[in-house]
Amino acid sequence: MSPTHVVENQPPPLVDYDLYAADPLLPGLVEAYALGTDHGRLSEFGRVMGSAEVIDWGFQANRNLPVLHTHDRYGNRVDRVDFHPAWHRLLDLAVSNGLHSLPWEGGAHGFVERASLTFLSSQIEAGHWCPISMTTAAMPALRTQPEVAIEWEPRILSRDYDAGFLPAAKKSGVLVGMGMTEKQGGSDVRANSSRAEAVAGGGPGGEYLLTGHKWFTSAPMNDAFLVLAQAPAGLSCFLMPRWTPDGERNAITIQRLKDKLGNRSNASAEIEFDGAWARLLGEEGRGLAVILEMVNATRLDCVTGSAALMRQAVSQAAHHTAHRRAFGSVLIGKPLMRNVIADLEIETEAAQVLMMRTAAAFDDAGGDEHQAKLRRILIPLAKYWVTKRCTGVVHEALECLGGNGYVEESIMPRLLRESPLNAIWEGSGNVIALDVVRALHTQPATGEAFLAEVATTAGADRALDAATDALAGHLSGALSGTRGVGAGSVEGGARRLVGSMATVLAASLLVRHASAAVAEAFIVTRVVGDGGHLYGTLPAGVDTAALASMAVPR
Ligand SMILES: Cc1cc2nc3c(=O)[nH]c(=O)nc-3n(C[C@H](O)[C@H](O)[C@H](O)COP(=O)(O)OP(=O)(O)OC[C@H]3O[C@@H](n4cnc5c(N)ncnc54)[C@H](O)[C@@H]3O)c2cc1C
Repeated sequence: MSPTHVVENQPPPLVDYDLYAADPLLPGLVEAYALGTDHGRLSEFGRVMGSAEVIDWGFQANRNLPVLHTHDRYGNRVDRVDFHPAWHRLLDLAVSNGLHSLPWEGGAHGFVERASLTFLSSQIEAGHWCPISMTTAAMPALRTQPEVAIEWEPRILSRDYDAGFLPAAKKSGVLVGMGMTEKQGGSDVRANSSRAEAVAGGGPGGEYLLTGHKWFTSAPMNDAFLVLAQAPAGLSCFLMPRWTPDGERNAITIQRLKDKLGNRSNASAEIEFDGAWARLLGEEGRGLAVILEMVNATRLDCVTGSAALMRQAVSQAAHHTAHRRAFGSVLIGKPLMRNVIADLEIETEAAQVLMMRTAAAFDDAGGDEHQAKLRRILIPLAKYWVTKRCTGVVHEALECLGGNGYVEESIMPRLLRESPLNAIWEGSGNVIALDVVRALHTQPATGEAFLAEVATTAGADRALDAATDALAGHLSGALSGTRGVGAGSVEGGARRLVGSMATVLAASLLVRHASAAVAEAFIVTRVVGDGGHLYGTLPAGVDTAALASMAVPR
């Protein structure tokens, strides 16, 4: 071996570790929000996801991209998307562990348990989470039409992953997608132009033929889609399967796949339908209300997905800097690098507490009015804040690896490409911030539920108390219309208001669930200081050594 080929001072790969046990916060959060959960099962899943083999599936699924076949060799349309076997293995792992079904299996903490598992799997590969997320989320919308739900629920809840392109009745398990966005409008779905014509009178549960297009339909190989289209009485929600009840391919064509920045293992398609068979869910004209429950659940998954990207990025950064030496000592021992890692850890823990609190509100919203109101406000609040903070964290973490972080063989470029997505789909930043304001205006009790939640830690920290009082004043001023919250109007200042609400809530949750060091540092820098700061600017007095070492996976 040539002496120039002796490899020195390179960290060992971060593989074969337990993502669950290595997390400084997750087991405690599970204990707090899902008492009685089997930590052993989560650890087992954490070890599977952290194994070298599964990590490699993530790389393979993103190197070998899905391929659309529009026609067969004789010119017949086939509209089939082929995926690498690694993609199917990842989906199989997710489905067999109930990542698509846990909230509907009757357990008391289905959403929290699922969020924990999804948080682990999304760290290793984010693309396959998309069809899983939409499948879980489709259930409440389907249940608005009981006769349709009776037919589809058992297929959806099955823990068999069946990749076959066959009528749903012939499969041992199915996945469901959604089609809302059209060329002329995504956020403003009222602009949808796809049409629905009733067959034999139509009505709730009735048959319709859909004609139109969808500009983004992810996971187009899924077995059915919840689709919005204009019926005579207005925008309505339909279940549109890939096959008709007669066993024919439905009149859905895939025009092309999007060439995306990230999320590349997953296919996102432009589709058209020409008299495609579908069934109406709920009343004609109530489409938005029906699909909203689906959107709420996918928004929770955006929070989980972003928190997962942040945790994986910080684990990689802390692992690298704990092993890499420069100027005579390991990087994580350098005061400035420690400051960076500690600051990233704080931000990641804030994302995790917001994720878990929101997931718990889903579990508790059923019979509890306070939790239902809290859930209403938490979903957009956490979606806005956590998805926005994600890219900054991943970017800084990537830089901690130096040049190694910029190379595709590390997971960092994939994490960075993925990081803006959760802020865009299921409602982009502005739309989500405005949704918080809408909730506060139309249901003032949601604001009260928010303040009551923060008040659970009143008296624990003087700075947090002062910030909460100031925020309560802003809220009432803004909502009574007497005062803007930043940029001259309630609407123009929505991001500032929502940002303040998210930081105050995150601080309160960190006081409850994280170490005192993390909570204090978060309050000093995000609540008292300017929350828009750059990472690595923690002030004197913060124990950066302790915080940085917390981030190193063990
Ligand atoms: C990878 C990927 C996969 C996707 N998969 C799906 C899918 O499976 N199914 C599906 O239905 N859709 C899907 N989408 C579409 C996605 O949900 C939309 O792109 C998103 O909702 C935004 O809609 P738009 O692209 O039409 O942007 P627009 O609605 O044109 O918005 C553009 C910008 O304007 C802002 N904006 C909008 N209204 C206001 C306002 N009133 N005030 C201030 N700012 C405003 C938005 O926040 C956004 O930043 C996917 C998108 C991506 C990137």
